[in-house]
Amino acid sequence: MVAMTLPSHLQHAQHWIDGRETPSSGAQRIDVINPANQSVIASTPAGTIADVDAAVSAAQRAFRAGSWSRISGRERAAVLLRAAAALRQQADQLAQVESMDVGKPISFATAVDVNTAAETYEYAAALAQQLDGAVRRTPLPAHAYTQREPLGVVAAITPFNFPLILSTTKIAFALAAGNTIVHKPAEDTPLSALFVARILTEAGVPDGVYNLVTGYGREIGEHLVTHPDVAKVAFTGSSTTGAHLAELAGRHLRPLTAELGGNAANIVFADADVEQAIQTTISAFVFNTGQFCMGGPRLLVQRDLLEPMLEALAAALPHVPLGDPSQPETVIGPVATSRQREKIASAVKQAVDAGATLVTGGQALDLDGGLYFQPTVLTGVDNSAEAVQEEIFGPVLTVQAFDTEAEAIELANSTRYGLAAGVQTTDISRAHRVADALEAGIVWVNSWAMLDPAMPFGGVKDSGWGRENGPEQMESYTRTKSVIIALAPDPEAEASN
Ligand code: NAD
Repeated sequence: MVAMTLPSHLQHAQHWIDGRETPSSGAQRIDVINPANQSVIASTPAGTIADVDAAVSAAQRAFRAGSWSRISGRERAAVLLRAAAALRQQADQLAQVESMDVGKPISFATAVDVNTAAETYEYAAALAQQLDGAVRRTPLPAHAYTQREPLGVVAAITPFNFPLILSTTKIAFALAAGNTIVHKPAEDTPLSALFVARILTEAGVPDGVYNLVTGYGREIGEHLVTHPDVAKVAFTGSSTTGAHLAELAGRHLRPLTAELGGNAANIVFADADVEQAIQTTISAFVFNTGQFCMGGPRLLVQRDLLEPMLEALAAALPHVPLGDPSQPETVIGPVATSRQREKIASAVKQAVDAGATLVTGGQALDLDGGLYFQPTVLTGVDNSAEAVQEEIFGPVLTVQAFDTEAEAIELANSTRYGLAAGVQTTDISRAHRVADALEAGIVWVNSWAMLDPAMPFGGVKDSGWGRENGPEQMESYTRTKSVIIALAPDPEAEASN
Protein backbone atom coordinates (compact mmCIF):
# COMPACT_ATOMS: atom_id res chain seq x y z
CA MET A 1 0.00 0.00 0.00
CA VAL A 2 1.28 3.51 -0.87
CA ALA A 3 1.86 5.47 2.36
CA MET A 4 -0.81 8.07 2.94
CA THR A 5 -0.53 10.37 5.91
CA LEU A 6 -3.05 11.96 8.18
CA PRO A 7 -2.27 15.46 9.50
CA SER A 8 -1.41 15.20 13.19
CA HIS A 9 -4.21 17.53 14.35
CA LEU A 10 -6.76 15.05 12.96
CA GLN A 11 -5.36 12.06 14.78
CA HIS A 12 -6.70 13.01 18.19
CA ALA A 13 -9.27 15.49 16.97
CA GLN A 14 -11.38 17.97 18.91
CA HIS A 15 -14.56 19.85 18.03
CA TRP A 16 -14.16 23.13 16.16
CA ILE A 17 -16.13 25.79 18.03
CA ASP A 18 -15.77 29.57 17.87
CA GLY A 19 -12.82 29.42 15.46
CA ARG A 20 -10.65 26.99 17.40
CA GLU A 21 -10.16 23.38 18.46
CA THR A 22 -12.37 22.83 21.48
CA PRO A 23 -12.29 19.75 23.71
CA SER A 24 -15.50 17.95 24.48
CA SER A 25 -17.11 18.26 27.90
CA GLY A 26 -17.21 14.45 27.91
CA ALA A 27 -14.46 11.84 27.79
CA GLN A 28 -15.97 9.33 25.34
CA ARG A 29 -14.31 9.09 21.92
CA ILE A 30 -15.11 7.44 18.58
CA ASP A 31 -12.43 5.55 16.63
CA VAL A 32 -12.04 6.40 12.96
CA ILE A 33 -11.25 3.29 10.92
CA ASN A 34 -9.44 3.16 7.58
CA PRO A 35 -11.64 0.74 5.58
CA ALA A 36 -8.70 -0.25 3.36
CA ASN A 37 -7.14 -2.23 6.24
CA GLN A 38 -9.44 -1.65 9.24
CA SER A 39 -6.72 0.10 11.24
CA VAL A 40 -7.68 2.84 13.68
CA ILE A 41 -6.28 6.05 12.18
CA ALA A 42 -7.81 8.70 14.42
CA SER A 43 -10.40 9.38 17.05
CA THR A 44 -12.93 12.16 17.52
CA PRO A 45 -15.02 13.21 20.50
CA ALA A 46 -18.40 11.56 21.02
CA GLY A 47 -19.95 15.00 21.52
CA THR A 48 -22.31 15.81 24.36
CA ILE A 49 -25.45 17.90 24.72
CA ALA A 50 -23.28 20.55 26.42
CA ASP A 51 -20.94 20.58 23.39
CA VAL A 52 -23.89 21.18 21.05
CA ASP A 53 -25.16 23.96 23.30
CA ALA A 54 -21.72 25.60 23.24
CA ALA A 55 -21.56 25.37 19.43
CA VAL A 56 -25.09 26.73 18.92
CA SER A 57 -24.48 29.59 21.30
CA ALA A 58 -21.21 30.48 19.47
CA ALA A 59 -23.12 30.39 16.17
CA GLN A 60 -25.97 32.49 17.54
CA ARG A 61 -23.57 35.08 19.01
CA ALA A 62 -21.70 35.28 15.71
CA PHE A 63 -24.95 35.67 13.76
CA ARG A 64 -26.15 38.49 16.01
CA ALA A 65 -22.74 40.21 16.00
CA GLY A 66 -23.20 40.68 12.26
CA SER A 67 -19.54 40.31 11.28
CA TRP A 68 -20.71 37.75 8.70
CA SER A 69 -24.48 38.04 8.47
CA ARG A 70 -24.50 41.81 7.87
CA ILE A 71 -21.46 42.33 5.66
CA SER A 72 -21.94 42.64 1.92
CA GLY A 73 -22.24 39.60 -0.29
CA ARG A 74 -19.10 40.74 -2.07
CA GLU A 75 -17.09 40.61 1.15
CA ARG A 76 -18.42 37.13 1.93
CA ALA A 77 -17.58 36.06 -1.62
CA ALA A 78 -13.95 37.12 -1.17
CA VAL A 79 -13.64 34.84 1.87
CA LEU A 80 -15.33 31.91 0.09
CA LEU A 81 -12.97 32.31 -2.86
CA ARG A 82 -9.99 32.22 -0.49
CA ALA A 83 -11.40 29.00 1.01
CA ALA A 84 -11.73 27.52 -2.52
CA ALA A 85 -8.14 28.47 -3.33
CA ALA A 86 -6.91 26.84 -0.10
CA LEU A 87 -8.85 23.65 -0.93
CA ARG A 88 -7.11 23.55 -4.30
CA GLN A 89 -3.71 24.24 -2.73
CA GLN A 90 -4.18 21.49 -0.15
CA ALA A 91 -5.98 19.15 -2.56
CA ASP A 92 -3.50 16.29 -2.29
CA GLN A 93 -3.59 16.20 1.49
CA LEU A 94 -7.35 16.60 1.68
CA ALA A 95 -7.87 13.85 -0.92
CA GLN A 96 -5.69 11.54 1.19
CA VAL A 97 -7.76 12.34 4.28
CA GLU A 98 -11.00 11.55 2.41
CA SER A 99 -9.52 8.40 0.91
CA MET A 100 -8.26 7.05 4.24
CA ASP A 101 -11.50 7.91 6.01
CA VAL A 102 -14.01 6.59 3.43
CA GLY A 103 -11.95 4.18 1.29
CA LYS A 104 -12.34 6.32 -1.83
CA PRO A 105 -9.89 5.64 -4.63
CA ILE A 106 -7.38 8.48 -4.45
CA SER A 107 -7.84 9.58 -8.06
CA PHE A 108 -11.60 10.04 -7.53
CA ALA A 109 -11.08 11.72 -4.16
CA THR A 110 -8.91 14.32 -5.92
CA ALA A 111 -10.72 14.73 -9.24
CA VAL A 112 -14.26 14.46 -7.90
CA ASP A 113 -14.51 15.14 -4.17
CA VAL A 114 -11.93 17.88 -3.61
CA ASN A 115 -12.44 19.49 -7.00
CA THR A 116 -16.23 19.60 -6.57
CA ALA A 117 -15.83 21.12 -3.12
CA ALA A 118 -13.61 23.90 -4.50
CA GLU A 119 -16.00 24.53 -7.42
CA THR A 120 -18.93 24.71 -5.02
CA TYR A 121 -17.26 27.41 -2.89
CA GLU A 122 -16.48 29.32 -6.10
CA TYR A 123 -20.04 29.03 -7.34
CA ALA A 124 -21.53 29.97 -3.96
CA ALA A 125 -19.22 33.01 -3.90
CA ALA A 126 -20.84 34.18 -7.13
CA LEU A 127 -24.33 33.70 -5.71
CA ALA A 128 -23.40 35.59 -2.53
CA GLN A 129 -23.06 38.69 -4.68
CA GLN A 130 -26.44 38.29 -6.32
CA LEU A 131 -28.61 38.30 -3.20
CA ASP A 132 -30.88 41.24 -3.62
CA GLY A 133 -34.52 42.19 -3.59
CA ALA A 134 -37.02 43.81 -5.90
CA VAL A 135 -38.94 47.03 -5.96
CA ARG A 136 -42.63 46.18 -6.29
CA ARG A 137 -44.98 48.61 -7.97
CA THR A 138 -48.21 48.53 -5.95
CA PRO A 139 -51.25 50.80 -5.77
CA LEU A 140 -50.23 51.70 -2.22
CA PRO A 141 -49.09 55.26 -1.54
CA ALA A 142 -45.73 53.75 -0.66
CA HIS A 143 -42.29 52.77 -1.87
CA ALA A 144 -42.35 48.98 -1.52
CA TYR A 145 -39.46 46.59 -1.84
CA THR A 146 -38.31 43.15 -0.79
CA GLN A 147 -34.92 42.04 0.52
CA ARG A 148 -33.42 38.60 1.09
CA GLU A 149 -32.03 37.94 4.54
CA PRO A 150 -30.09 35.05 6.09
CA LEU A 151 -32.04 32.83 8.48
CA GLY A 152 -29.69 32.50 11.47
CA VAL A 153 -28.07 29.31 12.77
CA VAL A 154 -28.22 26.41 10.28
CA ALA A 155 -27.89 22.88 11.71
CA ALA A 156 -26.15 20.73 9.07
CA ILE A 157 -26.14 16.94 9.47
CA THR A 158 -24.29 14.92 6.85
CA PRO A 159 -23.85 11.22 5.89
CA PHE A 160 -20.84 8.93 5.64
CA ASN A 161 -20.54 8.39 1.91
CA PHE A 162 -19.56 11.78 0.41
CA PRO A 163 -18.45 13.60 3.55
CA LEU A 164 -16.62 16.45 1.85
CA ILE A 165 -19.00 17.18 -1.02
CA LEU A 166 -22.20 16.89 0.99
CA SER A 167 -20.84 19.04 3.80
CA THR A 168 -19.78 21.61 1.22
CA THR A 169 -23.16 21.78 -0.49
CA LYS A 170 -24.55 22.93 2.85
CA ILE A 171 -21.70 25.03 4.25
CA ALA A 172 -20.81 26.99 1.08
CA PHE A 173 -24.41 28.03 0.35
CA ALA A 174 -25.34 28.68 3.99
CA LEU A 175 -22.26 30.87 4.36
CA ALA A 176 -22.84 32.65 1.04
CA ALA A 177 -26.29 33.65 2.29
CA GLY A 178 -24.86 35.04 5.57
CA ASN A 179 -25.95 32.29 7.96
CA THR A 180 -23.89 30.71 10.70
CA ILE A 181 -23.59 26.95 11.05
CA VAL A 182 -23.34 24.07 13.47
CA HIS A 183 -22.31 20.97 11.57
CA LYS A 184 -22.46 17.36 12.72
CA PRO A 185 -20.71 15.07 10.24
CA ALA A 186 -21.26 11.29 10.18
CA GLU A 187 -19.57 9.60 13.12
CA ASP A 188 -17.82 7.13 10.80
CA THR A 189 -16.25 9.68 8.42
CA PRO A 190 -15.71 13.04 10.14
CA LEU A 191 -12.14 13.83 9.08
CA SER A 192 -12.52 15.99 5.96
CA ALA A 193 -14.95 18.27 7.84
CA LEU A 194 -12.33 18.77 10.56
CA PHE A 195 -9.71 19.52 7.90
CA VAL A 196 -11.96 22.09 6.21
CA ALA A 197 -12.94 23.78 9.49
CA ARG A 198 -9.39 25.07 9.86
CA ILE A 199 -9.29 26.18 6.20
CA LEU A 200 -12.48 28.21 6.64
CA THR A 201 -11.12 30.03 9.68
CA GLU A 202 -7.78 30.70 7.95
CA ALA A 203 -9.66 32.00 4.89
CA GLY A 204 -11.34 34.64 7.07
CA VAL A 205 -14.65 33.12 8.16
CA PRO A 206 -15.14 34.93 11.51
CA ASP A 207 -15.00 32.91 14.73
CA GLY A 208 -18.30 31.25 15.59
CA VAL A 209 -19.66 31.39 12.04
CA TYR A 210 -18.78 27.75 11.26
CA ASN A 211 -18.80 25.27 14.16
CA LEU A 212 -18.33 21.53 14.02
CA VAL A 213 -19.33 19.00 16.66
CA THR A 214 -18.55 15.32 16.13
CA GLY A 215 -20.61 12.51 17.61
CA TYR A 216 -23.54 10.16 17.28
CA GLY A 217 -26.78 11.16 15.59
CA ARG A 218 -29.11 9.93 18.28
CA GLU A 219 -27.05 11.37 21.12
CA ILE A 220 -26.46 14.88 19.79
CA GLY A 221 -28.08 15.16 16.34
CA GLU A 222 -31.61 15.25 17.73
CA HIS A 223 -30.66 17.86 20.30
CA LEU A 224 -29.17 19.99 17.52
CA VAL A 225 -32.27 19.69 15.34
CA THR A 226 -34.59 20.72 18.17
CA HIS A 227 -32.37 23.39 19.73
CA PRO A 228 -34.43 26.56 20.16
CA ASP A 229 -31.74 28.77 18.59
CA VAL A 230 -31.52 26.77 15.36
CA ALA A 231 -33.31 28.47 12.45
CA LYS A 232 -33.04 25.74 9.82
CA VAL A 233 -32.03 22.11 9.47
CA ALA A 234 -30.14 20.88 6.41
CA PHE A 235 -30.01 17.08 6.47
CA THR A 236 -28.57 14.46 4.13
CA GLY A 237 -28.87 10.81 5.04
CA SER A 238 -31.26 7.88 4.94
CA SER A 239 -35.00 8.24 4.37
CA THR A 240 -35.67 6.68 7.78
CA THR A 241 -33.56 9.24 9.66
CA GLY A 242 -34.88 12.02 7.42
CA ALA A 243 -38.50 11.18 8.21
CA HIS A 244 -37.71 11.11 11.93
CA LEU A 245 -35.92 14.47 11.81
CA ALA A 246 -38.71 16.01 9.71
CA GLU A 247 -41.11 15.02 12.50
CA LEU A 248 -38.90 16.60 15.16
CA ALA A 249 -38.33 19.74 13.09
CA GLY A 250 -42.05 19.95 12.35
CA ARG A 251 -42.88 19.96 16.05
CA HIS A 252 -40.65 23.01 16.39
CA LEU A 253 -41.93 24.60 13.15
CA ARG A 254 -38.41 24.59 11.82
CA PRO A 255 -37.72 24.49 8.08
CA LEU A 256 -35.83 21.38 7.02
CA THR A 257 -34.33 20.31 3.73
CA ALA A 258 -33.86 16.58 3.43
CA GLU A 259 -31.66 14.89 0.83
CA LEU A 260 -32.50 11.21 1.36
CA GLY A 261 -32.10 7.75 -0.09
CA GLY A 262 -32.13 6.84 -3.76
CA ASN A 263 -32.52 3.75 -5.92
CA ALA A 264 -32.25 5.03 -9.46
CA ALA A 265 -33.21 3.18 -12.61
CA ASN A 266 -30.82 3.23 -15.55
CA ILE A 267 -32.96 2.58 -18.66
CA VAL A 268 -31.11 1.24 -21.68
CA PHE A 269 -33.14 1.20 -24.88
CA ALA A 270 -32.26 -1.11 -27.78
CA ASP A 271 -31.39 1.96 -29.88
CA ALA A 272 -28.65 3.04 -27.44
CA ASP A 273 -24.97 3.23 -28.29
CA VAL A 274 -24.31 -0.17 -26.70
CA GLU A 275 -20.61 0.30 -25.87
CA GLN A 276 -21.34 3.60 -24.19
CA ALA A 277 -24.37 2.15 -22.39
CA ILE A 278 -22.22 -0.64 -20.92
CA GLN A 279 -19.58 1.79 -19.66
CA THR A 280 -22.26 4.10 -18.25
CA THR A 281 -24.01 1.19 -16.55
CA ILE A 282 -20.78 0.07 -14.89
CA SER A 283 -19.71 3.48 -13.66
CA ALA A 284 -23.27 4.24 -12.47
CA PHE A 285 -23.29 1.32 -10.06
CA VAL A 286 -19.63 0.94 -9.02
CA PHE A 287 -18.82 4.64 -8.50
CA ASN A 288 -17.97 5.23 -4.83
CA THR A 289 -18.27 1.44 -4.39
CA GLY A 290 -22.00 1.80 -4.94
CA GLN A 291 -22.38 3.99 -1.85
CA PHE A 292 -23.89 6.72 -3.97
CA CYS A 293 -27.42 8.00 -3.37
CA MET A 294 -27.62 8.99 -7.05
CA GLY A 295 -25.99 5.80 -8.34
CA GLY A 296 -27.74 3.51 -10.81
CA PRO A 297 -28.26 0.14 -9.08
CA ARG A 298 -31.31 -0.85 -11.19
CA LEU A 299 -30.60 -1.63 -14.84
CA LEU A 300 -33.73 -1.77 -16.99
CA VAL A 301 -32.77 -3.04 -20.42
CA GLN A 302 -34.90 -3.50 -23.54
CA ARG A 303 -35.33 -7.22 -24.09
CA ASP A 304 -33.21 -7.56 -27.28
CA LEU A 305 -30.22 -6.20 -25.40
CA LEU A 306 -30.68 -8.24 -22.20
CA GLU A 307 -28.37 -11.16 -23.03
CA PRO A 308 -25.64 -9.05 -24.73
CA MET A 309 -25.62 -6.65 -21.75
CA LEU A 310 -25.39 -9.47 -19.21
CA GLU A 311 -22.53 -11.08 -21.14
CA ALA A 312 -20.69 -7.77 -21.46
CA LEU A 313 -21.08 -7.02 -17.74
CA ALA A 314 -19.93 -10.50 -16.73
CA ALA A 315 -16.87 -10.13 -18.97
CA ALA A 316 -15.95 -6.58 -17.96
CA LEU A 317 -16.58 -6.37 -14.22
CA PRO A 318 -13.88 -8.78 -12.99
CA HIS A 319 -11.35 -6.53 -14.75
CA VAL A 320 -12.42 -3.24 -13.17
CA PRO A 321 -9.44 -2.37 -10.92
CA LEU A 322 -10.49 -3.16 -7.34
CA GLY A 323 -8.26 -2.80 -4.33
CA ASP A 324 -5.93 -0.42 -2.53
CA PRO A 325 -7.54 3.05 -2.77
CA SER A 326 -4.13 4.74 -2.55
CA GLN A 327 -3.20 3.38 -6.00
CA PRO A 328 -4.03 5.82 -8.80
CA GLU A 329 -5.49 3.12 -11.07
CA THR A 330 -7.99 1.83 -8.48
CA VAL A 331 -11.63 2.28 -9.47
CA ILE A 332 -13.39 0.25 -6.75
CA GLY A 333 -12.16 0.77 -3.20
CA PRO A 334 -13.41 -0.83 -0.01
CA VAL A 335 -16.86 -0.17 1.43
CA ALA A 336 -16.70 2.56 4.09
CA THR A 337 -17.72 0.52 7.16
CA SER A 338 -18.01 -3.11 8.19
CA ARG A 339 -21.68 -2.49 9.03
CA GLN A 340 -22.27 -1.40 5.41
CA ARG A 341 -20.45 -4.43 4.02
CA GLU A 342 -22.53 -6.80 6.14
CA LYS A 343 -25.68 -5.08 4.88
CA ILE A 344 -24.59 -5.54 1.26
CA ALA A 345 -23.66 -9.22 1.75
CA SER A 346 -26.95 -9.90 3.44
CA ALA A 347 -28.97 -8.18 0.67
CA VAL A 348 -27.19 -10.24 -2.01
CA LYS A 349 -27.70 -13.49 -0.08
CA GLN A 350 -31.37 -12.72 0.47
CA ALA A 351 -31.87 -11.99 -3.26
CA VAL A 352 -30.16 -15.24 -4.29
CA ASP A 353 -32.12 -17.21 -1.68
CA ALA A 354 -35.30 -15.69 -3.16
CA GLY A 355 -34.39 -17.03 -6.63
CA ALA A 356 -32.22 -14.34 -8.25
CA THR A 357 -29.41 -15.48 -10.56
CA LEU A 358 -25.92 -14.29 -9.72
CA VAL A 359 -24.33 -13.19 -13.02
CA THR A 360 -21.00 -12.14 -11.50
CA GLY A 361 -19.52 -11.19 -8.12
CA GLY A 362 -21.42 -11.72 -4.89
CA GLN A 363 -18.49 -12.14 -2.52
CA ALA A 364 -16.82 -10.06 0.17
CA LEU A 365 -13.04 -9.90 -0.36
CA ASP A 366 -10.50 -9.61 2.39
CA LEU A 367 -7.48 -7.98 0.69
CA ASP A 368 -5.06 -6.53 3.31
CA GLY A 369 -7.87 -6.81 5.87
CA GLY A 370 -9.89 -4.23 3.89
CA LEU A 371 -13.67 -4.10 3.53
CA TYR A 372 -13.98 -5.03 -0.15
CA PHE A 373 -16.99 -6.41 -2.00
CA GLN A 374 -16.98 -7.66 -5.57
CA PRO A 375 -19.05 -5.77 -8.13
CA THR A 376 -22.15 -7.92 -8.32
CA VAL A 377 -24.87 -8.40 -10.93
CA LEU A 378 -28.18 -10.10 -10.18
CA THR A 379 -30.83 -10.98 -12.71
CA GLY A 380 -34.07 -12.95 -12.60
CA VAL A 381 -35.28 -10.64 -9.84
CA ASP A 382 -38.94 -9.90 -9.38
CA ASN A 383 -39.82 -6.20 -9.39
CA SER A 384 -41.30 -6.57 -5.91
CA ALA A 385 -38.07 -8.13 -4.51
CA GLU A 386 -36.36 -6.19 -1.75
CA ALA A 387 -33.15 -6.09 -3.81
CA VAL A 388 -35.04 -4.06 -6.43
CA GLN A 389 -37.27 -1.97 -4.22
CA GLU A 390 -34.80 -1.05 -1.47
CA GLU A 391 -31.49 0.77 -1.43
CA ILE A 392 -28.58 -1.73 -1.04
CA PHE A 393 -25.92 1.01 -1.12
CA GLY A 394 -23.12 -1.15 -2.42
CA PRO A 395 -21.67 -2.27 -5.79
CA VAL A 396 -24.72 -4.36 -6.65
CA LEU A 397 -26.75 -4.15 -9.87
CA THR A 398 -30.13 -5.76 -10.46
CA VAL A 399 -31.07 -6.30 -14.10
CA GLN A 400 -34.64 -6.45 -15.43
CA ALA A 401 -35.89 -6.60 -19.03
CA PHE A 402 -38.70 -4.51 -20.52
CA ASP A 403 -40.45 -4.48 -23.87
CA THR A 404 -41.97 -1.05 -24.34
CA GLU A 405 -41.16 2.53 -23.39
CA ALA A 406 -44.28 2.67 -21.21
CA GLU A 407 -43.19 -0.46 -19.34
CA ALA A 408 -39.71 0.99 -18.75
CA ILE A 409 -41.19 4.15 -17.26
CA GLU A 410 -43.54 2.17 -15.07
CA LEU A 411 -40.73 -0.01 -13.71
CA ALA A 412 -38.43 2.98 -13.22
CA ASN A 413 -41.07 4.81 -11.19
CA SER A 414 -42.14 1.76 -9.19
CA THR A 415 -40.04 2.27 -6.05
CA ARG A 416 -40.64 4.66 -3.16
CA TYR A 417 -37.50 6.62 -4.15
CA GLY A 418 -37.05 9.34 -6.74
CA LEU A 419 -33.64 10.96 -6.55
CA ALA A 420 -32.05 10.29 -9.95
CA ALA A 421 -32.61 8.32 -13.14
CA GLY A 422 -30.84 7.71 -16.44
CA VAL A 423 -31.88 7.07 -20.03
CA GLN A 424 -29.56 5.61 -22.65
CA THR A 425 -30.95 6.14 -26.16
CA THR A 426 -30.01 7.70 -29.48
CA ASP A 427 -33.61 8.83 -30.11
CA ILE A 428 -33.82 12.46 -28.98
CA SER A 429 -37.62 12.51 -28.85
CA ARG A 430 -37.63 9.41 -26.69
CA ALA A 431 -35.01 10.98 -24.41
CA HIS A 432 -37.25 14.00 -23.80
CA ARG A 433 -40.43 11.94 -23.42
CA VAL A 434 -38.89 9.57 -20.90
CA ALA A 435 -37.03 12.29 -18.95
CA ASP A 436 -40.35 14.12 -18.63
CA ALA A 437 -42.14 11.01 -17.32
CA LEU A 438 -39.53 9.92 -14.77
CA GLU A 439 -40.27 10.66 -11.11
CA ALA A 440 -36.80 11.87 -10.15
CA GLY A 441 -35.05 15.08 -9.17
CA ILE A 442 -32.35 14.69 -11.82
CA VAL A 443 -32.26 12.73 -15.10
CA TRP A 444 -29.13 11.97 -17.11
CA VAL A 445 -29.33 11.13 -20.80
CA ASN A 446 -26.47 9.12 -22.30
CA SER A 447 -24.35 9.74 -19.21
CA TRP A 448 -24.38 9.29 -15.44
CA ALA A 449 -23.53 11.53 -12.51
CA MET A 450 -22.74 14.65 -14.52
CA LEU A 451 -23.11 17.13 -11.70
CA ASP A 452 -22.37 20.82 -11.35
CA PRO A 453 -22.91 23.30 -8.51
CA ALA A 454 -25.20 25.26 -10.85
CA MET A 455 -27.54 22.30 -11.36
CA PRO A 456 -29.93 21.56 -8.49
CA PHE A 457 -30.40 18.03 -7.21
CA GLY A 458 -32.81 16.58 -4.70
CA GLY A 459 -35.56 14.07 -4.34
CA VAL A 460 -39.20 13.38 -5.00
CA LYS A 461 -41.22 10.84 -2.98
CA ASP A 462 -39.14 9.26 -0.17
CA SER A 463 -35.93 10.74 -1.57
CA GLY A 464 -36.57 14.01 0.18
CA TRP A 465 -37.57 17.65 0.19
CA GLY A 466 -35.82 20.66 -1.23
CA ARG A 467 -32.92 21.12 -3.59
CA GLU A 468 -29.20 21.58 -3.12
CA ASN A 469 -27.01 23.47 -5.62
CA GLY A 470 -28.07 26.20 -8.00
CA PRO A 471 -29.82 29.46 -7.13
CA GLU A 472 -32.67 27.26 -5.82
CA GLN A 473 -30.59 26.42 -2.78
CA MET A 474 -30.13 30.07 -1.83
CA GLU A 475 -33.91 30.36 -1.56
CA SER A 476 -33.94 27.84 1.26
CA TYR A 477 -31.10 29.56 3.15
CA THR A 478 -32.71 33.01 3.05
CA ARG A 479 -36.09 34.55 3.71
CA THR A 480 -37.84 37.49 2.13
CA LYS A 481 -38.67 40.63 4.04
CA SER A 482 -41.09 43.17 2.59
CA VAL A 483 -40.45 46.83 3.41
CA ILE A 484 -43.26 49.27 2.70
CA ILE A 485 -42.48 52.94 3.25
CA ALA A 486 -45.50 55.21 3.28
CA LEU A 487 -45.02 58.25 1.09
CA ALA A 488 -46.56 61.52 2.18
CA PRO A 489 -48.58 63.17 -0.58
CA ASP A 490 -46.99 66.05 -2.48
CA PRO A 491 -48.03 69.12 -0.38
CA GLU A 492 -47.94 71.45 -3.40
CA ALA A 493 -50.21 69.16 -5.37
CA GLU A 494 -52.55 68.96 -2.35
CA ALA A 495 -52.62 72.75 -1.97
CA SER A 496 -53.53 73.27 -5.61
CA ASN A 497 -56.46 70.80 -5.33
P1 NAD B 1 -27.95 8.06 8.28
O1 NAD B 1 -29.33 8.57 8.11
O2 NAD B 1 -27.73 6.85 9.08
O3 NAD B 1 -27.00 9.19 8.93
C1 NAD B 1 -26.85 10.46 8.34
C2 NAD B 1 -26.46 11.45 9.41
O4 NAD B 1 -27.55 11.56 10.33
C3 NAD B 1 -25.24 11.05 10.25
O5 NAD B 1 -24.51 12.21 10.57
C4 NAD B 1 -25.87 10.46 11.49
O6 NAD B 1 -25.05 10.55 12.64
C5 NAD B 1 -27.09 11.34 11.64
N1 NAD B 1 -28.17 10.72 12.39
C6 NAD B 1 -28.51 9.42 12.44
N2 NAD B 1 -29.57 9.24 13.27
C7 NAD B 1 -29.89 10.47 13.73
C8 NAD B 1 -30.89 10.96 14.61
N3 NAD B 1 -31.76 10.14 15.20
N4 NAD B 1 -30.93 12.28 14.86
C9 NAD B 1 -30.06 13.13 14.27
N5 NAD B 1 -29.09 12.73 13.44
C10 NAD B 1 -29.01 11.41 13.16
O7 NAD B 1 -27.35 7.88 6.80
P2 NAD B 1 -25.94 7.31 6.36
O8 NAD B 1 -25.97 5.83 6.52
O9 NAD B 1 -24.84 8.10 6.97
O10 NAD B 1 -25.93 7.69 4.82
C11 NAD B 1 -26.45 6.87 3.82
C12 NAD B 1 -27.83 7.33 3.41
O11 NAD B 1 -27.76 8.70 2.99
C13 NAD B 1 -28.34 6.57 2.22
O12 NAD B 1 -29.72 6.34 2.40
C14 NAD B 1 -28.11 7.52 1.06
O13 NAD B 1 -28.93 7.33 -0.05
C15 NAD B 1 -28.37 8.83 1.71
N6 NAD B 1 -27.73 9.90 0.97
C16 NAD B 1 -28.51 10.79 0.30
C17 NAD B 1 -27.92 11.79 -0.45
C18 NAD B 1 -28.72 12.81 -1.21
O14 NAD B 1 -28.16 13.77 -1.68
N7 NAD B 1 -30.03 12.62 -1.34
C19 NAD B 1 -26.53 11.88 -0.51
C20 NAD B 1 -25.77 10.95 0.19
C21 NAD B 1 -26.37 9.96 0.95
